[in-house]
Amino acid sequence: MSGTAVRVCRACDEPITDPADAVLVAHELGNSGPGWDVYAHRDHVDDVEQADPDLLRIMTRIWTVRIQAEQ
Ligand SMILES: [Zn+2]
Repeated sequence: MSGTAVRVCRACDEPITDPADAVLVAHELGNSGPGWDVYAHRDHVDDVEQADPDLLRIMTRIWTVRIQAEQ
């Protein structure tokens, strides 16, 4: 294996082998470090978006506060 990060679909947990098939759906922050991008297969994006937009907005706000607190 090379050092290339394998993108895993958030919806089906399968690796996304074709970069053209990977859709960035979210960015999650780790407890430390810059966090990671969340991808899904193009055909599975709709499955990922079962996350409540309002919840996502709240989480984004929490993440933002965390980032500011760490600076
Ligand atoms: Zn998938």
